[in-house]
Amino acid sequence: MAAHDPVEQKYVYDFAEGNKDLKDLLGGKGANLAEMTNLGLPVPPGFTITTEACKAYLTTGREPDGLAAQIEAHLESLEREMGRRLGDPDDPLLVSVRSGAKFSMPGMMETVLNVGLNDRSVVGLSNQAGGNDRFAWDSYRRLIQMFGKTVCEVPGEEFEHALDEIKRAKGTHNDLDLDADDLRGLVDAYKQIFAKHTGREFPQEPREQLDLAIRAVFDSWNAERAILYRRQERIPADLGTAVNVVTMVFGNLGPDSGTGVAFTRDPGSGAQGIYGDYLANAQGEDVVAGIRNTVPLQELEQLDKTSYDQLLGIMARLEEHYKDLCDIEFTIERGKLWMLQTRVGKRTAAAAFVIAGQLVDEGLIDLDEALHRVNGAQLAQLMFPRFQLDHEFEPVAKGIGASPGAASGKVVFTSARAVELAAEGESVILVRRETNPDDLNGMIAAKGILTSRGGKTSHAAVVARGMGKTCVSGADELEVNVPAKKFTVGDHVVSEGDVVSIDGTTGKVYLGEVPVMPSEVVQYFEGELDPDNTDDALVRSVHRIMTHADAARRLRVRTNADTGADAARARRFGAEGIGLCRTEHMFLGDRRELVERLILASGERDREDALAALLPLQRADFIEIFREMDGLPVTVRLIDPPLHEFLPPLEQLAVNVAVAQERGEDVAKEEALLAAVRRMHEENPMLGLRGVRLGLVIPGLFAMQVRAIAEAAVAVVRDGGKACPEIMVPLVGAVQELETVRAEAERIIAEVVGDSGVEVLIGTMIEVPRAALTAGQIAEAAEFFSFGTNDLTQMGWGFSRDDVEGAFFWRYLELGIFGISPFESIDTDGVGRLIRIAAEEGRAARPGLKLGVCGEHGGDPDSVHFFHEVGLDYVSCSPFRVPVARLEAGRASITTTGSDSR
Ligand code: PEP
Ligand code: MG
Repeated sequence: MAAHDPVEQKYVYDFAEGNKDLKDLLGGKGANLAEMTNLGLPVPPGFTITTEACKAYLTTGREPDGLAAQIEAHLESLEREMGRRLGDPDDPLLVSVRSGAKFSMPGMMETVLNVGLNDRSVVGLSNQAGGNDRFAWDSYRRLIQMFGKTVCEVPGEEFEHALDEIKRAKGTHNDLDLDADDLRGLVDAYKQIFAKHTGREFPQEPREQLDLAIRAVFDSWNAERAILYRRQERIPADLGTAVNVVTMVFGNLGPDSGTGVAFTRDPGSGAQGIYGDYLANAQGEDVVAGIRNTVPLQELEQLDKTSYDQLLGIMARLEEHYKDLCDIEFTIERGKLWMLQTRVGKRTAAAAFVIAGQLVDEGLIDLDEALHRVNGAQLAQLMFPRFQLDHEFEPVAKGIGASPGAASGKVVFTSARAVELAAEGESVILVRRETNPDDLNGMIAAKGILTSRGGKTSHAAVVARGMGKTCVSGADELEVNVPAKKFTVGDHVVSEGDVVSIDGTTGKVYLGEVPVMPSEVVQYFEGELDPDNTDDALVRSVHRIMTHADAARRLRVRTNADTGADAARARRFGAEGIGLCRTEHMFLGDRRELVERLILASGERDREDALAALLPLQRADFIEIFREMDGLPVTVRLIDPPLHEFLPPLEQLAVNVAVAQERGEDVAKEEALLAAVRRMHEENPMLGLRGVRLGLVIPGLFAMQVRAIAEAAVAVVRDGGKACPEIMVPLVGAVQELETVRAEAERIIAEVVGDSGVEVLIGTMIEVPRAALTAGQIAEAAEFFSFGTNDLTQMGWGFSRDDVEGAFFWRYLELGIFGISPFESIDTDGVGRLIRIAAEEGRAARPGLKLGVCGEHGGDPDSVHFFHEVGLDYVSCSPFRVPVARLEAGRASITTTGSDSR
């Protein structure tokens, strides 16, 4: 075939030479056209120019050596196969030139149809179409229009105006009323527009048309909209696009022709059946442009039963072959069916679970593959409450689903107003063009955030996700006018105080309050829906896949919980223990007073009194939690935050004291408090007196907690229950810190547990980089490590965890310094390396050392895969994320050959 040097790189593949696994090289469309060709399905013949050719072109600015000759050779062979030549005045071959990257980027890149038409071959095309002049001239004018716009950047409106002009002259609104002469006149008008803007005639040489169209597709990879889309979808920028050169087939040759799209199952719900649309006597671009209304695919049965039956047969064949939902584009040319595209179809989260379950039932895939086909992000989406939508609610705008959830509330336009109204108990939606750090208070106060600009990594999106708050960003149909306190969308004007509803999953915006319904998946996890006794296909499938994930996973999943209620819910969600019980909340509320006494204690006696009063309260807390967890391990962390957090803010206190002094009141107590707050004030409290440091500085504090834990465990066991406490020391950086705490703790434990049979482990958090780097030493004094990835990220990067995400991460994301906040998903290269070192050196020093993670990353899907790979024993996360972690831990354990669909 190609007459090129054998060592020369192969840049062009005939459809018969490729297959579906060559997406990197041939792009999704090219690889699947090749696959269908090899299955013997009716694909119009053609060839694919590889992404490698595109990359070479984009790097050097010119087509790589050998490409032109390879195209020539493939074109000749295509002409032989079709028995037609490009540009032949009597019987021309026409081709389309279509982009096709590895990941689908709908509408982002270019396509040129009807390449090969010129002043002479237009006559030949008319002959081919049985003397249909109108069709031939319409095809020609479409070529000049598309070619002009995409290849030569002629403003599209100019062509539109010329078309409108001819329709006006003819007194019609309908393209179909234009006859062959009108269209011939339009071709002349288009050629003039083309010449005016490009300074040259419309190229008559078909090969030149082809080369320029290919080049335009290459260039479109770097079009602004394509760059933006890639950034949003996290598609790497260096993949390049392939170019498919495909023999033209026409769906606009009369009533026995047409075009359509189809899905092999419902991509919305996963339900089985035939889903699609058909448009008779039209080309694909007419469907996209919405020129006429499509009919349901089922109606094709009446119009052309042979093609319909053939199409259903092909759809079944494709499903069986791809073992997945496929979407399809097809054209019928005078009763002959042609397949123009197929791919594994995108689907909603619910459909992903339902379809995976169905395919197992149908014997097409096994449970491992079903597990591989769904993911934690989808499961998390299914756990959010949803809007209960019926026909009364039509969205008025659609932006980007930036942070999932469903929120309704009164519209406000400023942060201050959001805070005010929220304080009055109102639900508010903060609407801005885009947010900036000054909006933070408003964002905290709002139920949801709606912006008219910005994508998935805009300030609004990043901060809202960090807060777990519903956000729709980039709803660009909204005209937001902050000074006038209103926005307009279409014909609607929405003023401050009007109610809107936003869906952070779909990005849709509704006027008025849309009722919210709970997630059936959460009802299932809560035990309120019996998976064996429901006709809800989603719940049945989630149950089945979760059960398989649990059987497959090696990682255990625990929860972060510090109340009995949280612990109970987490258990219902499948938690196998508590990985982090933060004890600090137990020092708040009406216990604050005792803590103040502890901090202000003027002598040993005072302090001991305060601790003695706290002891029974702490013991009761732990008893409740141990009972809920019924023998599952419970890691209780000794108090961590700086003590001054338990005291009133300095400024407020200073004012109170001054005012009281002014009034001549007795302020001795307040003065002592103020002095203590001043004494304890720190410039960098996160790096100050907290964690183990506090335990070493305040005598008796950790001892009280250790005693409370041990006594609680003994009490539960004496009551016939089970308790498995693990005491965890926070913020350790040196083994000596841990040894000191450990010595005292062991003494107390031995004294309390006696012969009760209670066993208490003592371990440490690894959350200071120095601890990770000296893990071998620290393991000598620890029975377990739990990685505190929040602090490890904070101290590893030097990022204040409370400030930076809202302050400047949006800029870092925009610049691509990282693709996702390292507080959200573990930075495997840096922070992850610290974890690897600590795991390896810890286990080398103490074989069998138990390893877990309890920072926020424990419930993040990608991070769970990393923790699996590093060999941790468990992850611990908030109760709501326990199912996500179970699913992802299962996915991390299986190996499948299937590829991810995107
Ligand atoms: C951590 O630092 O990751 C951790 C779990 O502790 P905290 O978030 O309470 O500091
Ligand atoms: Mg921490």
